[in-house]
Amino acid sequence: MHVQQWEETCDVLVLGGGTAGCLISGVLARRLPKLKVTLVDSGTNYDADGLLDRVPQKPVTPGTRTFFRNTGAEFVPAPSEIGGSSLMHGGIALRGTRDDHDEWFRVAGEEWSPQDLASLFHRLESDTDEPAVGSPLHVAELTTLPAAYRAFHAYCARVFGAAADLNRPEAHGVGLVPSACTDGRIATTYRQHILPDPVPANLRLRAETVVDHVRLRGERVDRVAVRHLRTGRPSQLRADVVVLAAGALGTPEILLRSGIGAAAASEELGIPVALDLPAVGARLRDHSVLWSEATVTDTPAAPPWPWHAVLCRTSPTDEHLPDCSFELFHDFRLRTRQLWSRRVVISCTQLHDISPGRVRLEMSGTRLRTRIDGAVPRTLAAMEQYAEHVGALLKEEEFQGVGMRAPYPVPYPSSQGRNSAAGLLPKVRSAYHFHGTCPMGTDPGSAVVSPDLRVFGTGNLYVADASVLPVQFGANTHHVTRATALRAADALSSLFGYS
Ligand SMILES: Cc1cc2nc3c(=O)[nH]c(=O)nc-3n(C[C@H](O)[C@H](O)[C@H](O)COP(=O)(O)OP(=O)(O)OC[C@H]3O[C@@H](n4cnc5c(N)ncnc54)[C@H](O)[C@@H]3O)c2cc1C
Repeated sequence: MHVQQWEETCDVLVLGGGTAGCLISGVLARRLPKLKVTLVDSGTNYDADGLLDRVPQKPVTPGTRTFFRNTGAEFVPAPSEIGGSSLMHGGIALRGTRDDHDEWFRVAGEEWSPQDLASLFHRLESDTDEPAVGSPLHVAELTTLPAAYRAFHAYCARVFGAAADLNRPEAHGVGLVPSACTDGRIATTYRQHILPDPVPANLRLRAETVVDHVRLRGERVDRVAVRHLRTGRPSQLRADVVVLAAGALGTPEILLRSGIGAAAASEELGIPVALDLPAVGARLRDHSVLWSEATVTDTPAAPPWPWHAVLCRTSPTDEHLPDCSFELFHDFRLRTRQLWSRRVVISCTQLHDISPGRVRLEMSGTRLRTRIDGAVPRTLAAMEQYAEHVGALLKEEEFQGVGMRAPYPVPYPSSQGRNSAAGLLPKVRSAYHFHGTCPMGTDPGSAVVSPDLRVFGTGNLYVADASVLPVQFGANTHHVTRATALRAADALSSLFGYS
C-alpha cells in the first residue's frame, strides 16, 4: 500500500529534543520571533496536557534503548519524553579542569579558548537579561547536610584538601557541588528553555517522531526523513539549517544511516556514500564508575539540599586516588525520580585515560541496528585505592554516628579475592557520560565538525550536542553540553540576523 508522505518546511530544524536540542530551539525561537523553528524528538511531549504544571514532581518514565556490545546487550537509559538526558541527570553543574579546556583549545583553535568556554559557562550560571538563557546555580550549606555528608567532607578535606569552588579551573579536593537542582527538583532544559511563559509561537514541537536520516544534495541537506512512532507514518521535513542534537549515541547513528561516515563501512552495508568522514562514531568517550551501596539510619524527612551536594575531585597526580571524582550521595530510583531514600552510595568515577569505544551500524537480518564496540568503560585504574578509602572512611570517628551498614560490594582490602581489582572489575559500569562521537577539530580525517560546529563538506548541517566534545572531558557532561549548545544558538542567531 502506498503511504502518503507529507512535507513541512521551516527555517531551522533541530533533530533531538534533549539537553542541547531544547536549549538551542528555545533560545533561537525566543530571540527571533519571525524564525520558524521545529524541534523533533522521539519522546512524548508530556506537557501537552499541562501535566508538568499540575504535577510539580511528575515522575519521568524512562525507557531503555538497547545497544549491542561485543559482550552482549547494553541497556542505556533513554527517557521516553522530550528533554532527553536532562530529565535524568543528577543536577551536577561542573566545568572541566584547566587541562581539559587547554586540550580543547589545542584541538579546536581559538574559537574555543578557555576564556570563551568560561564566558559560556558564566552566562549559563548567572541571571542574564535574556529570558531562558541562564539560571543561577545552587550550593548546599555543609552545616545543614545530613551527618554522612559532613563526615565524608571531613575525611576528604584531611586526605585530599578542600576546594573553595569546584568550578575554578584547577580546583582539586573536596567541595560543595554547584548544582542545577533545587529542592530535589531537576532543572531540565525543556522546563528552562521551552516552557517559560509564553511558549514561543514560532516553535513547533514534533514529539514521538524518529529521525531516520538526512539527505545531502551537493553540500546541502535538502530533506530529513522522519517517522511517527505510533502511527508509523513517514514524512519529509525541509529547512534552511538542520541541527543534529540527538546525543552522542543518536547523532552518529543518524549520520551513519545517511551515508555520512567511513565510506568503506557505508559501502559494506549497502548505504550510498554521501560523505567520507571516518571519525563519525569512531571515538565514543565515557566515564567509568564503581559504586558501593549502603543504608544509613540518620535520614531526615526530606532533602532541602541539592541531590548531589558534596564531591571530591582529585588531581591526576594525586598519590592517594589519582584523577577521580569521589562522591557520597543518596541513591534515587530512575523510574520514579524519587530523590530521597535511606540508601546511600559511595562512588568513584574515573575521569581520564579511558580507552574510547565506537558507535557503528551493523546488519541484523534485513535491518540496520546500532552497535557499541569496545571497552567503554570497563576499567577503573584506581579501584583498589578507592576500596581502601571506603574502608578507611567507615572507620572514621565522624562516620560512627551515621549508622551506616557495610556497603556492598564491601570494598575495603581483605585477604579474600573479592576486593581485589579482579573482584571489583565486574562492578565497574558506565556513568552514562557519552561524548565525543562527532568531535570538532580542523582536520576532516580525525574530526566531524569544524570549530563552527558545521559538518565538514556541508553547508547547512550542524551538530551541537555532547558528541562534538573533542576531548575526554574530566567532569559530568550535562553542563558542558549546555555550553556547547549555547554557542550553537549564538552562532545560528547571528546567521539569521540577531545582534
Ligand atoms: C541516567 C543519566 C544520568 C546522568 N547524570 C548526570 C549528572 O548527574 N550530571 C551531568 O553533568 N551529566 C549527567 N548525565 C549526562 C548528561 O545528562 C548528558 O551528557 C547530556 O545531557 C547529553 O545531552 P545531549 O543533548 O547530547 O543528549 P540527550 O540529552 O540525550 O538528547 C538527545 C535527544 O535526542 C533524542 N533522539 C535520539 N535519537 C533520535 C532519533 N533518531 N530521532 C528522534 N530523536 C532522537 C533522544 O530521545 C533525546 O531526547 C547523565 C546521563 C544519564 C543518561
